[in-house]
Amino acid sequence: MEIITAKDLIKDYNGFRAVDGVSFSIVKGECFGFIGPNGAGKTTIMRIIYCFLPPTGGEVRVLGYDVTKEPSLIKARMGVMPQDDSLDPDLSVIQNLVVYGRYFDMPKKKTVPLARELLASVGLADKMKANIRELSGGMKRSLLLVRSIVNDPDVIILDEPTTGLDPHSRQMVWRRLEDLKRQGKTLLLTTHYMEEAERLCDRVAIMDRGKIIVIASPKDLMGEHGGNLEAVYLKLTGRKLED
Ligand code: ADP
Repeated sequence: MEIITAKDLIKDYNGFRAVDGVSFSIVKGECFGFIGPNGAGKTTIMRIIYCFLPPTGGEVRVLGYDVTKEPSLIKARMGVMPQDDSLDPDLSVIQNLVVYGRYFDMPKKKTVPLARELLASVGLADKMKANIRELSGGMKRSLLLVRSIVNDPDVIILDEPTTGLDPHSRQMVWRRLEDLKRQGKTLLLTTHYMEEAERLCDRVAIMDRGKIIVIASPKDLMGEHGGNLEAVYLKLTGRKLED
């Protein structure tokens, strides 16, 4: 069953074409990754999928709904871990989660025990009452992940979920994402880390300059082209990921 489909998607910013006619479809329970260097258009595609930006052209459907026509029906079943830190610095960790849960009509007495469990799963068990300002950058990323799943969404969008995390926290987040996959959630992520894509993604779309160059499983790509995913990327785009 297709959960997200994009057909000939285009996004222009003041005449600059950031997404240049991409098409893809993502099925239920799949972990799908967008990989590519800065500026490739990955975040723009994520923002269109979570109904934050309107497309300039083409069509995007999530859970059968058009992103331009039924955004509230989509948002109700979606969790989003954005790249930027959108936590409320005046509230504690648990207050941030309770306030977020309210957008989904979750009562506090349901959110708190769930939040406790989720925070423990990413190593933040002792930070429930901490102020956001006391958290490191990596802790904020982990909290954003917890926030994105506290409403038990069917589709989870993760924009660079482990950027800025130390290796131990990265492993914890990876295990958490693997748990979500086992629960049948559909995951869509962007990443610079080829190791992350190889470990988590069933399929990846390799992007460059607003276009998708290829969509395939990491295993098939590595089998066909030889080397690891980073080598495949270099071969297909002629560019290094840091470019
Ligand atoms: P990625 O996530 O792959 O790094 P983005 O989707 O953030 O790529 O950006 C794609 C291109 O669109 C870049 O050239 C970027 O400078 C441009 N861009 C992104 N957001 C805006 C914006 N709000 N206004 C103008 N240009 C933008």
